[in-house]
Amino acid sequence: SSERQWKSFNRSSVYMADLEAALHYSLRMEVAAHTVIKGDEMISLKNYVNALAKYFQGRPMVVNLLKNLNSWLQNQTGDEISYEAFKEILDNTAQSPDSALPKSRGWVGCQGSQQNFRGYPCGVWTLFHVLTVQASNANGSDPQEVLTAMRGYVRRFFGCRYCANHFEHMAEESMSKVETLSSAVLWLWSSHNIVNNRIAGSVSEDPEFPKIQWPSPATCPSCHTVSRRGDHEWNRDEVLSFLKFHFSSDRILTDYLD
Ligand code: FAD
Repeated sequence: SSERQWKSFNRSSVYMADLEAALHYSLRMEVAAHTVIKGDEMISLKNYVNALAKYFQGRPMVVNLLKNLNSWLQNQTGDEISYEAFKEILDNTAQSPDSALPKSRGWVGCQGSQQNFRGYPCGVWTLFHVLTVQASNANGSDPQEVLTAMRGYVRRFFGCRYCANHFEHMAEESMSKVETLSSAVLWLWSSHNIVNNRIAGSVSEDPEFPKIQWPSPATCPSCHTVSRRGDHEWNRDEVLSFLKFHFSSDRILTDYLD
């Protein structure tokens, strides 16, 4: 099928097709695994959809859909909702014009060299990096808002359970130290590198996309420095500028969207 065909892409770009595919997969498959959503799952879903409605800058129809979904969800005052009710709003069964989350037509920048590599987990990281950067540009009032949304989503819904456990452990250890929107961007970058380091060389690593401490010196020379003792050090100010550039909404490519 067309979804399986290799799509050429630029490795130094972020693709809207991947962000939409991550939303599609998360809201239509992962959340769908829960017939009824209540308690902590309900809180986590509300935080997640709220962060999306507030900070996701995508195609107008997708932004509208996320806003509709969020107003519906935040208005649910009962203890629980059914996934079926959620799906009616998500699929816009009322057919409000200019509001839709299209089905994914496959991964682009998150394509793996084989079916079992990359894809959704890559999409999840990318989505949340983009959201931390957008929250910092939007001057959000709660520096931990996006990280809390990600933490709750991963803990309650992310299909890879050992990933979720590791992530929760990292969050428990250090997320409370995040006091600014910039440090939220850097916390997620640093946590992602900890994961890269832990799983480098493991069976889940796509040989065409080796796990590195990212960004590489070739991608961001000024991000890397050497201490007086000769150890590698990150220049965190440069890393922050690089992240804000790399994940900025103006640079997101819209190739391969309908
Ligand atoms: P990914 O690591 O998914 O990264 C996607 C893209 O982000 C990269 O191509 C690169 O452009 C960019 N990037 C890379 N590093 C950084 C960084 N530090 N900061 C910002 N951008 C970066 N897999 C396991 O096997 N074990 C685990 O415990 C595990 N835990 C996970 C926890 C979470 C919360 C998530 C979302 C995923 C986890 N995974 C885990 C999956 C794993 O991290 C990768 O997503 C997966 O192996 C696909 O790798 P990838 O090559 O597409 O790159």
